[in-house]
Amino acid sequence: MASPTTIQDVQTILTQPAGCRLIVVKILTSRPGLYGLGCATYTQRFHAVHTTIEKHLKPFLIGRDADRIEELWQMGMVNGYWRNGPVLNNAISGVDMALWDIKAKRAGMPLYQLLGGKCREGAAVYVHADGKDRAEVAENVHKFREQGYQHIRVQMGGYGGRAARLHKPRGAPEGAYYAPREYCRAMLDMIEHVRAAVGPDVELLHDIHERLRPIDAIAFAKAVEPFNLFFLEDPLAPEDLEWFRNIREQCATPIAMGELFNHPREWTPLIQDRLIDFIRMHISQMGGLTPARNVAAFANMYGIRTAWHGPGDVSPVGHAANLHLDLWAPNFGVQEWCRFNDLVYDLFPGTPEVHNGYMYPNDQPGLGIDINEDLAARYPCTDEVIQWTQTRAPDGGPVRP
Ligand code: MG
Repeated sequence: MASPTTIQDVQTILTQPAGCRLIVVKILTSRPGLYGLGCATYTQRFHAVHTTIEKHLKPFLIGRDADRIEELWQMGMVNGYWRNGPVLNNAISGVDMALWDIKAKRAGMPLYQLLGGKCREGAAVYVHADGKDRAEVAENVHKFREQGYQHIRVQMGGYGGRAARLHKPRGAPEGAYYAPREYCRAMLDMIEHVRAAVGPDVELLHDIHERLRPIDAIAFAKAVEPFNLFFLEDPLAPEDLEWFRNIREQCATPIAMGELFNHPREWTPLIQDRLIDFIRMHISQMGGLTPARNVAAFANMYGIRTAWHGPGDVSPVGHAANLHLDLWAPNFGVQEWCRFNDLVYDLFPGTPEVHNGYMYPNDQPGLGIDINEDLAARYPCTDEVIQWTQTRAPDGGPVRP
């Protein structure tokens, strides 16, 4: 029997080429030149993930057999006894994806081949159209359609919108304010306008970003039903999962949920009871390719599709992992896409490319992506107190971002 391929080093690369702090794990093996990359990006708490990898996972992993991905995932998750938190899950994801990358490189195959091979040649993506008013949103939808996109998410003034007439109390602190009830009225008006302007053929999506009270989210899902959304994203917070049944019983607006999920107990009941239509975890946040593959197969048994989280705070390595799952999964739905700039393509050679609304693989062995570490070092991560998550209701009280 050939000697095992062992883990020789676990490195953490931090870089910020385009706004978000990205964390990439690089695992070096006992075979000269053979290494793998994984995404561990938790942009808001990147120091904590970095420390977890360097001080806890690296000593645990050095010298182990790089082929035993499943065993290392299971042991890595329980080795610290307490488990399923965002810092640990992201750290494990970096290792997990890198080990899958290594295994597929050894096989000489793109990673989707190890999952079972392709069900499709490219993954349909959705992009984000925004605007200061409903006319500008419609104009931006039109521009994306001309570029070949068939799925377009429509927002106005970012998440929650900008409340036009905030009625604040004296002494209200600074913050990212929004008015939930006004948001409902403005967004419904915008979506009605955009649908009338662009016609029935384009698939429209909208993200509530869990900013409404549950009863307002139910009313919104009902009111938006005539405009035939492809899906309504995050209508409820993970803390309010029991309310999904109320939405389901009252309308047929397709529901997507999951980017904040940490724990199997969060997604399992929604899938088993068929309370959502799209499962859309942030793959590094759930622990990597190993759990994502399992959840895709589980959701497929219940007729639920995938729509993995794909914003700018997923590294290009994470986007490559999303793409391999998308190409394989029989129940793939749509892939969120953030349209990286040219610098990101230079820094991460092999970053997935999108043409005419579809994302394509490059068919290199493994994840098909690399990192230019010299270039990455020229864009170090910055420390700052994050403002957009300091969200407040009109009376100044803190609310979920
Ligand atoms: Mg979202």
